[in-house]
Amino acid sequence: MEPKKSSKTSLDKISDFADSFSYFSKITKKLQSAYQEIEKKFEDLNLKLEQTNNQLRQSLIEKDRLSNYLNNILESINSGVLAIKKDGKINLFNRAAEEILGYGSKEVLGKDYLEVFGQGLEIEKTPLHTLNTKRVHLNQEKEVFTKSRKKIPLGFSTSLLTDADGNLLGAVETFFDLSHIKRLEEEITRVKTLAALGEMAATVAHEVRNPLGGISGFADILEKDLGPDDPRQRWVKKIIQGVEILNRLVINLLDYTRVVKLSPCKVDFKKFLDDTLNFFQMDNLSKREDVSIIRNFEKKDLVCKIDPEQFRQVVLNLLRNSVQAMPRGGEIEVSVLSSLSKNQEGEVILKITDPGVGMDKKTKEKLYMPFFTTKEGGTGLGLATVKKIVEAHRGEVQIKSTEGRGTEVQISFPKSLF
Ligand code: ADP
Ligand code: MG
Repeated sequence: MEPKKSSKTSLDKISDFADSFSYFSKITKKLQSAYQEIEKKFEDLNLKLEQTNNQLRQSLIEKDRLSNYLNNILESINSGVLAIKKDGKINLFNRAAEEILGYGSKEVLGKDYLEVFGQGLEIEKTPLHTLNTKRVHLNQEKEVFTKSRKKIPLGFSTSLLTDADGNLLGAVETFFDLSHIKRLEEEITRVKTLAALGEMAATVAHEVRNPLGGISGFADILEKDLGPDDPRQRWVKKIIQGVEILNRLVINLLDYTRVVKLSPCKVDFKKFLDDTLNFFQMDNLSKREDVSIIRNFEKKDLVCKIDPEQFRQVVLNLLRNSVQAMPRGGEIEVSVLSSLSKNQEGEVILKITDPGVGMDKKTKEKLYMPFFTTKEGGTGLGLATVKKIVEAHRGEVQIKSTEGRGTEVQISFPKSLF
């Protein structure tokens, strides 16, 4: 048994070895393919990771772009935008907000809302109030102070700021300056009032004119009847004077309320001015020997297109004002020159300067308002009419005046508008 056993054993061994080898080889192959599979999976995973990474990068770039884009919008729009955090601290203040309120964003960002805007603030019209009460404001109006303490009207809305999950982040306010619109509204009201007034004035003036003519006629008869030495002449003179004042008022009123319709024609402006000044000297200055007029005209010819009749009113009104402002007499300077500054056609600049009493600040603010006058018996329509006529000629009126020193009125208008 033993040798048999031993010979079988060595054969067996070989066969076992062969078996093991083939088994080992199989395992190795399996391992190899498993390794390859893993390697492939790893590669796949790597690829996926890279893809995800790319997507993430892309989405970050996109987010950055979006945030920049939103920021640009915020900075470009003309509405002020201001946001506060839950603690009431300001964390957004765009360019329009800076312009409207006069603060730089660096001055207000991170500061308490109340600390910056607290003075004279209507607290219930703030984003802070919205934050505390959760009540929003839509298209409302309020008045606020700018940094330089100027009060301005604002149109504003407020709303709450929340994140995607609805968690409260703060409140935001959008606003815009209403000053310009308010001014336009006032102008419209003024024009409407004037139109209504004009209609009324025209009616009244017509009604007043006839009896006024009657009074004037009877006063003339009375004057003749009484004879030159009758002491009652004084009263008749008073009647005539009163009628003259009323007549002037009626004429001015009708003049002012009439819509300016120009009948322009070619005019030698220096000659026109000479004639007008001569007329004024004869008509108004015959009683004021203490007042004289200096003419300071440019040498070259100055032909322009204007409505001479209406423009005469402008010059006469200004001269009358100057004389009335010179109780102690003096010289009124009338100067005229042309300039090429506005357009190729050029413009005419007329200046009337007097060394009179000048105007205080309050007068300067109300100058062109119809019926504003500081004179007893003044109509307050002179400068309003001047402005109206000059503007119909597409011109501008500028007045510089110093109390106690005098006044300079400058009228500029295009040489050839028509
Ligand atoms: P009125 O002459 O009837 O008062 P105006 O419209 O012509 O009305 O002028 C308005 C006011 O402007 C005057 O009452 C006066 O206070 C002021 N003003 C106008 N021109 C002058 C001037 N040249 N110098 C000083 N004050 C002037
Ligand atoms: Mg006047």
